[in-house]
Amino acid sequence: MGKKTNIQLMVDGRRIDGRLPEQLREIEMKIGEIENADGSARVRFGNTEALVAVYGPRSLFPKFLQESDMAILRVVYSMAPFSVDERKNPAPDRRSIEISKVTKDALSGAVFLEEFPRTVIDVYEYIIQADGSTRVTAINAASLALASAGIPMKDLVAACSVGKIGDVLIVDLCGKEDNYSESDMAVAMMPSKGLITLLQMDGRLTKEEVLQLLKKAEENCKKIYEMQKKALLEKFKVVGED
Ligand code: ADP
Repeated sequence: MGKKTNIQLMVDGRRIDGRLPEQLREIEMKIGEIENADGSARVRFGNTEALVAVYGPRSLFPKFLQESDMAILRVVYSMAPFSVDERKNPAPDRRSIEISKVTKDALSGAVFLEEFPRTVIDVYEYIIQADGSTRVTAINAASLALASAGIPMKDLVAACSVGKIGDVLIVDLCGKEDNYSESDMAVAMMPSKGLITLLQMDGRLTKEEVLQLLKKAEENCKKIYEMQKKALLEKFKVVGED
């Protein structure tokens, strides 16, 4: 399905927020702000901000939900009522149910679930400010929150959005670009394994454009991955070690 394109998103090579086509927004990553959680992270891409808390692995009840040979991962994605201009109804809607499901799939392959049979790992994702690309921002935070909970992982999951305005390819879409650009793609990866764990597309693209956007997504996921590793190293640096 095509998207609405009735606003000017690019002027003299600059985007609506002044960025160049391949420029990420300012990114901030904080780990461990929720004391009660086993792991937590807050990630901000410009005006999009996700706060994620991880609980577990912990025993799962009722017992019939348990998997005898692995942990189950539960993900809840939710936009806070104050995250957008008009109050968002906090009740789960179709969009948040879908995002919770694809996020679970994007993260599951990165966690050694088989090490914790009969348990559950709960991932609560809250969008506290929404300005485009919320699902990928939340995936970046969830991956950090899982790692900070000490849960063994095969790799971190790094995610970003890419898209197209006119014939210009762009990265890290803000809200207006998300809503009015020709197309957008959300991509999550396990960078050191070269695996894609989430790929969603909206709008129209040629096959060549899809491949070009995937390449841009991979380059930017790698940049985000480096920031994630740096944030974890800073948080868990042993005192006295450089
Ligand atoms: P994503 O946030 O992962 O890109 P969508 O493409 O569904 O997911 O949403 C695009 C953007 O639209 C969001 O980032 C947010 O800025 C805005 N948006 C989504 N849902 C709402 C809502 N209920 N009210 C206001 N804005 C919303």
